[in-house]
Amino acid sequence: MQIYKFGGSVLQEASGIRRMAEVLQQAERPLVLVVSAFGKTTNALEELASLSARGTREEEMLRKTEALKEYHVEIMRTLSGKAGDHDPGTNELDHLFSELKNLLATGPDSSFDPWHDRIVSFGELFSASVVFSYLKQKFPDIVYKDIRKIIVTDSRFGNAGVLWEETGRRVRQAFSAPGTLFLTQGYIAGTLTRETTTLGREGSDFTAAILGCILDAEKVTLWKDVPGVMSADPKICPDAVHLPGISYQEAAEMAFYGAKVIHPKTIKPLQNKHIPLVVRGLGHPDNTSTTIWDFEEMERHVPVYIRKERQILLSVFPRDYSFVLNRHLEDLFGQFKQWAFNISLVQISAISVSFCIDDPGVLFMERVRKLQDDYEVYFNREVELLTFRHYTEKTISEKLKSCLILVAQRTRLTAQYVVKRVAGE
Ligand code: ASP
Ligand code: MG
Repeated sequence: MQIYKFGGSVLQEASGIRRMAEVLQQAERPLVLVVSAFGKTTNALEELASLSARGTREEEMLRKTEALKEYHVEIMRTLSGKAGDHDPGTNELDHLFSELKNLLATGPDSSFDPWHDRIVSFGELFSASVVFSYLKQKFPDIVYKDIRKIIVTDSRFGNAGVLWEETGRRVRQAFSAPGTLFLTQGYIAGTLTRETTTLGREGSDFTAAILGCILDAEKVTLWKDVPGVMSADPKICPDAVHLPGISYQEAAEMAFYGAKVIHPKTIKPLQNKHIPLVVRGLGHPDNTSTTIWDFEEMERHVPVYIRKERQILLSVFPRDYSFVLNRHLEDLFGQFKQWAFNISLVQISAISVSFCIDDPGVLFMERVRKLQDDYEVYFNREVELLTFRHYTEKTISEKLKSCLILVAQRTRLTAQYVVKRVAGE
């Protein structure tokens, strides 16, 4: 069994979808093909959901929804080379878009989160529908599966947790036909009562990992618009080098600290089953992919540099005249869990605890006010977390030149700095 996942950036134009079909010609079967929403569709849907929730005029939402529809129809037209109306996929798209328009017009009634997940799930429903109608011409035996009935989750909308046992049963049953090419959606799932959920933004990689793990795939391949994993983002680091093979642990550390190539949740299910994860550039030659597997240890001499932006450094001081105690930590971590704060670094001193967290946006100030009941709270927004793996003093000092260091933490393999940038890099 092979799992191929194609990301939104490689599927944002008809040319990428054509290239995908070429890749499929040579692929081994059985194969499950997982697709993300095209380009920035999920962002557009999130925007539509928040416009609708704010009671924006219907005409404005309709205009944006029509633009999104036109984008999909245009891809379909280019793929089929026809005027569009005769393509069998057009009916399905019409149907999906009218469902979306209804949901937007109704707005979120009592509970926002389930409604929001239904809206953002349309990106993968659109893309799967367009891709299916195109691939059906080339691979008439392709089988379409609605993943919302197969991957079962709890009701934590927006970042749902997989119910592994039930999901295992359903996945094995759904993808059992030998020698078959299956097509399904990434990112979206469903509860036992068939409400639509999502697995967290950029979660299609995770879908591929869930399927790969349950189906004991030979390997899981993520087709991206980059030729694998680099030692740093080449846009900010001209000396970044390509990494042909890295260990699960290395990949997990890199994803956790902000390398955007792989979603952090993807690694663990595959590591547990020792299934190789391959990151491969669509249109790039084979030898520029990256394989993530049980490699003993990454070549020590390749320093890895990861920059995570939009961080907040949050420092809290207990107001009760005591040092920082376990009960403060329990209280703080409990609150953070409830608020789904994403913590990348913690530092404790006698009288304070500092956290580096992803910026939760508009909700942040409300959270701070809640903390102020029991703590003195200080924070720095728009800071960055810089992580160096296998560091050398030289690489660190070069990157820290234009930075004010707010927190530093080092282990033998990893050095991390929470910094404020004082001048452009
Ligand atoms: N389309 C979803 C998102 O943009 C999932 C994904 O791309 O993996 O977040
Ligand atoms: Mg996407």
